[in-house]
Amino acid sequence: MNLTLEANLRRQGRRVTNQRRLILEVVRSTDSHPTADGVFRQVRRRLPRLSLGTVYRNLKLLAERGLIRELDSRAFGRYDGNTTRHDHFTCQRCGRIFDLKIEAARPLWRRAAARRGFVVLDHRIDFYGLCGSCANHRGRAKGGDRERQERRRPG
Ligand SMILES: [Zn+2]
Ligand SMILES: [Zn+2]
Repeated sequence: MNLTLEANLRRQGRRVTNQRRLILEVVRSTDSHPTADGVFRQVRRRLPRLSLGTVYRNLKLLAERGLIRELDSRAFGRYDGNTTRHDHFTCQRCGRIFDLKIEAARPLWRRAAARRGFVVLDHRIDFYGLCGSCANHRGRAKGGDRERQERRRPG
């Protein structure tokens, strides 16, 4: 192998590692559960030549290695830098995903599964609804307060 080729390969290797490290950093630095596109926009500020395809590939790889988590079901395509056990609440209006820690759910699942002879090693519970600010906003938009007052009036 000639020296230039070797140097080029080494440089390429460094670039790949650098990209992957930055992508991991971005996902871990937030609890917003970003999409590949969101990660791409952030990493591109520091690596302008980065492509969206590279971000997709690296996110998949990092998830396969257990360094980040890809959310499933309705939040499919969103990534979580927090790999410790926790559940999620997804706001159906603004799309934000919040972390929840509900320890009570664990014994419930174990009990339910034990009846069928299953051994539960992990579980996920996903909640869906409106986040605090969306719920408030909806109440105001509908004139919820006025409605309640009118209902309270006698006669
Ligand atoms: Zn919301
Ligand atoms: Zn999470």
